[in-house]
Amino acid sequence: MGTGMFDYAPAPESRAIVDIAPSYGLFIGGEMVDPTDGTRFKTVNPATEEVLSEVVAAGPQDVDRAVAAARAAYDGTWSRLPGRERGKYLYRLARLVQERSRELAVLESIDNGKPIRESRDVDVPLVAAHFFYYAGWADKLGYAGFGPDPRPLGVAGQVIPWNFPLLMLAWKIAPALATGNTVVLKPAETTPLTALAFADICRQADLPPGVVNIVTGAGDTGRALVEHPGVDKVAFTGSTDVGRQIARSVAGTRKKLTLELGGKAANIVFDDAPLDQAVEGIVNGIFFNQGHVCCAGSRLLAQESIADELLDRLKRRLGTLRLGDPLDKNTDIGAINSPEQLERIRELSAVGEQEGAERWSPACDLPDRGYWFPPTLFTGVTQAHRIAREEIFGPVLSVLTFRTPAEALEKANNTPYGLSAGVWTDKGSRILWMAQRLRAGVVWANTFNRFDPTSPFGGYKESGFGREGGRHGLEGYLDV
Ligand code: NDP
Repeated sequence: MGTGMFDYAPAPESRAIVDIAPSYGLFIGGEMVDPTDGTRFKTVNPATEEVLSEVVAAGPQDVDRAVAAARAAYDGTWSRLPGRERGKYLYRLARLVQERSRELAVLESIDNGKPIRESRDVDVPLVAAHFFYYAGWADKLGYAGFGPDPRPLGVAGQVIPWNFPLLMLAWKIAPALATGNTVVLKPAETTPLTALAFADICRQADLPPGVVNIVTGAGDTGRALVEHPGVDKVAFTGSTDVGRQIARSVAGTRKKLTLELGGKAANIVFDDAPLDQAVEGIVNGIFFNQGHVCCAGSRLLAQESIADELLDRLKRRLGTLRLGDPLDKNTDIGAINSPEQLERIRELSAVGEQEGAERWSPACDLPDRGYWFPPTLFTGVTQAHRIAREEIFGPVLSVLTFRTPAEALEKANNTPYGLSAGVWTDKGSRILWMAQRLRAGVVWANTFNRFDPTSPFGGYKESGFGREGGRHGLEGYLDV
């Protein structure tokens, strides 16, 4: 944004390491195959609008073929393998992700728009960590607290969003495979490329054909997968609206369901918090991944006595954020993933102004091509405002204030969601007091947006149900 004392020279990561094919098929039964009834669509780089490749929107027959392949693999090999053998494959997948980490990071940034600093240092290392972690469980399921010999469910149908394409794939596939299930996964329409690269990794790992199947496509493909009678388990991450539709369509069947949906997390800063650290946490909470994060700290609750000071420091910090080329190693804020999402962010931000909140962004040049939105703050926000209630899913922070811990708690919990929350204070007792009362699946203290495969993640209320990660994450894939 260039308001700092000096500017960095561009430091672009080379994209030569990725080899994007002009078109892709579907990964079914261990092979890339042409669609039967699918059509084709283009996937673009959101930072440049350049067409990257053409992928398949799988049709119902394609989905049917993928489910049949997953069933055959389940019956024929995967469910019969001892856990230690499944574990070996998972370790192999984890190591291949590490070996190909640079390629995967560049590909993720190209297809999604997120800064390379994040895909390289956060997404891809967490993907490998997730496979390593669940590899360790594969031969120890009898000790996980679900009985001496917990059984898998069968075929898992998994639908994931575009904000962490490869990481959400890992969150879905690693526990499913560790527990002995096979998988049909549908990546999001706008971010299919790392899932297709993962298909290649499955082949490289000699994973038995049909254990993992990848069907690309949009909402219709997702619906066909979720509604397929051959699916025993549905796992979904995405919007609360689609989550509701899925819950309806699964109701009355014997499919097991986990839903990881939206959020509107409060990031609560008390007057005794170290303010500079809190500023970093606020920035990480809402501007990480352009705010396309279900557990983003999208509502800042600042204690009144330090609110002005905190906002001054926050604004100064936002002036130093660099927005632009996702492949530049200095970039903090990349591109918005799609024109549709950009439109949603613009619309809700306009509503914020209409409802009387005050809008602020640092001086910021947006690139001419691609989809961009500057980091934005709203002050003077009340709980009734839509920007305090609805998930914006963009780099937009709503700032509210409070006087007492009880008021902070009441405001934080005043949301239909309950995925995450943050507390910034010097007092350990206050952290515990707040954490016990915040209705959120994850509560961070003096940090934000920290992830670890050993730690369960999931929501209360309209943020969904079921947990992913940790020992808890095994349960959704076991017949218990
Ligand atoms: P969706 O919930 O539509 O997308 C999530 C996944 O579900 C995608 O793979 C999508 O396909 C698929 N899908 C869509 N409709 C169906 C259906 N009827 N049955 C089965 N699968 C379906 O999210 P959007 O991308 O439309 O984003 C809309 C809003 O949702 C965002 O603005 C944000 O607020 C919120 N969101 C929240 C996320 C979270 O992690 N909490 C993640 C993503 C979005 P397709 O590829 O066509 O989208």
